Amino acid sequence: MRSTRQKQCDRCSDSPSVLYRVQMDESGQWFFVCDRCLPTLKDNNSAYRYGGTWKAKKR
Ligand SMILES: [Zn+2]
Repeated sequence: MRSTRQKQCDRCSDSPSVLYRVQMDESGQWFFVCDRCLPTLKDNNSAYRYGGTWKAKKR
């Protein structure tokens, strides 16, 4: 059974324990990206918006 606590990065399909919720275009759609992909999205992107951090770890 797949863990429902895992999310994938929308850019590289990695499944890190922390993802960042961001908007990267004018559609207003939210994406989840890892910390490696995050800088590449922020670069020269006026539509970039940060919406919070998602963590897989459960307390
Ligand atoms: Zn990624």
